[in-house]
Amino acid sequence: MLTADALIALDRAHVFHPYSTFINPPPVFPVASARGVRITLSDGRELIDGMSSWWSVIHGYNAPAINAALHDQIERMSHVMFGGLTHEPAVLLAETLARITPPGLEAVFFADSGSVSVEVAIKMALQCQISRGKPAKRRLLTVRGGYHGDTFGAMAVCDPVTGMHSLFTGSLSQQLFAPRPAVRFGEEWSNADIAELATLLVAQADEIAAVIVEPIVQGAGGMWFYHPAWLTALRALCDAHDVLLIADEIATGFGRSGKLFACEHSDVAPDILCLGKALTGGYMTLAATLTTRAVAESISSGEPGVFMHGPTFMANPLACRAALASIELLLAGDWQGRVAAIARGLQAGLAPCRELPQVADVRVLGAIGVVELKRPVDMRTIPEAFVSRGVWVRPFGRLVYVMPAYIMSPDDLATLCRAIVEVVHALD
Ligand code: PMP
Repeated sequence: MLTADALIALDRAHVFHPYSTFINPPPVFPVASARGVRITLSDGRELIDGMSSWWSVIHGYNAPAINAALHDQIERMSHVMFGGLTHEPAVLLAETLARITPPGLEAVFFADSGSVSVEVAIKMALQCQISRGKPAKRRLLTVRGGYHGDTFGAMAVCDPVTGMHSLFTGSLSQQLFAPRPAVRFGEEWSNADIAELATLLVAQADEIAAVIVEPIVQGAGGMWFYHPAWLTALRALCDAHDVLLIADEIATGFGRSGKLFACEHSDVAPDILCLGKALTGGYMTLAATLTTRAVAESISSGEPGVFMHGPTFMANPLACRAALASIELLLAGDWQGRVAAIARGLQAGLAPCRELPQVADVRVLGAIGVVELKRPVDMRTIPEAFVSRGVWVRPFGRLVYVMPAYIMSPDDLATLCRAIVEVVHALD
């Protein structure tokens, strides 16, 4: 086993971390193991995890039921190609997803990551429009403040400024952007909030294949919760102007916002749905793009008669088994009660932040808590401030946010919130 110092030295010599630098990078903390909501560092410190490894580990680490499913599957086969072959984990997962997602989504494409599922969704929309004899409909409309991933198609629909990809603007396909929904979740709705998008959509409907949005919760583009009526209005506009609606529920899927899927806040069913992150309970990477029978049949009846995508690790059996076990675990328990309890705990625990001069806003929806600061945090110092208080919280920009595993106890949640209040209080 490497010593912690040797591990850090090798990490610095050879490893890129997400959105990080190779020259004098900020500190990273070696992890020895993780169980429940606790991450154990190699120096023995235990951290209460506020991040669920970026929205994904909804049942906590080392969930016995998912471990057992994976042990069983690994003895059968870890992987087999999906071209010309099929297997029970993939088929059962596809059937399960079709059953639990909003109505009408019947056809499932398994992808390797959230970003790839967004690429697949975009391709589905474009291929569908071509097949329907509308090849001019090949642009996408989205809103500012969105985030859909790091690959090129996805980058082109991220917010051009907050979406972290402004460097590549010149190489991205130029898509259409409307203002982000401004009326908050829980505020009074006004149709004016979607007026500019409506104008854009009506004027350019002939060239728009699809609208892509994150339903209700804009994640990495600003951790913003908007009014469900906005999404309902968007669905109606798409229907009226022959534009497909793509819902990116990669972050919100599987209960995080208080509904199993955030679209349910608006009682809306998209034409195409992207899932990822919590799909496998955070065990490994897997994503899925679902679409309606109508879209799937359009794609399949036009030239070339097949959908043009097929990754090597498509429908990886281990990942599918993890997903099946995770969904079974979720639906067998009182996830709604747990998410509601976490929402109450976050409301109470983060409330003291509202009084702090460093804070611009505090908001909670489901098991998501956000403290928006007036100024960006210093990523070189803030992680240690949290780690020294026994919690794992990784802010970005002006946002200190948490989305705990649904199994987090009230005491651990209170400790997590206290640490946030203290750390924010200590900021200049
Ligand atoms: N869409 C949304 C809404 C996301 O939050 C993310 C990841 N942060 C992605 C897409 C991309 O997923 P992945 O990182 O698995 O490629």
